[in-house]
Amino acid sequence: MMNKGLLFVISGPSGTGKGTICDELLKNENNNLFLSISATTREKRKDETEGVTYYYKTIDEFKRMINNGELLEHAVYNGNYYGTLRKNVEQMLDEGKNVLLEIEPQGALNVKCNFPEAILMFVIPPSADELKNRLINRGRESEEQIEKRLNAAKWELEQACKYSHIFVNDNLDECVKEIEKIIKEENKNRNKVNELLKEWN
Ligand code: 5GP
Repeated sequence: MMNKGLLFVISGPSGTGKGTICDELLKNENNNLFLSISATTREKRKDETEGVTYYYKTIDEFKRMINNGELLEHAVYNGNYYGTLRKNVEQMLDEGKNVLLEIEPQGALNVKCNFPEAILMFVIPPSADELKNRLINRGRESEEQIEKRLNAAKWELEQACKYSHIFVNDNLDECVKEIEKIIKEENKNRNKVNELLKEWN
């Protein structure tokens, strides 16, 4: 029987570069990694596509999904709901694919409760100043929003010890390589456990 895939969660404060890291990880076929597309109530941006970037939902639709137990985790971020579709993740795992969630830290900790076998990875910036500069330079948020995100980053960093692995995103290539090393190692260890279990059956 085919081994199930592993669930990897990448999280970290806004501006640490987790999106870029995930893009790089998904490009490398050796990682056998597939992105879980989330549901959100936030408005679709011009460059985004339904079912590719997100599944866009109304607040009522989203609340219905919560009540029906369709979400593996969900969180409110900047006044919008975001959540991971349980069925899609389980289907990919059953197909032997490794699944990647790129989500904010409240949601990542919910995954830890609802799916304890998930491997939680936390990305941190090299310094507080660097985080602030990255948020300013990407030019997506207002000054007030940047301040909010920096305040949130303090609480988020305090939760870092709850993750399985922590990575400093100082140099993108090196950070991606470190994460890929962990993906490989986790797969190797899980395969070994599965082999051992077969000896018992
Ligand atoms: P954006 O609106 O910029 O696409 O995403 C805002 C934040 O929501 C990002 O930190 C992103 O990682 C996070 N996010 C995206 N999808 C999910 C999800 O399904 N669950 C949670 N908890 N956060 C998500």
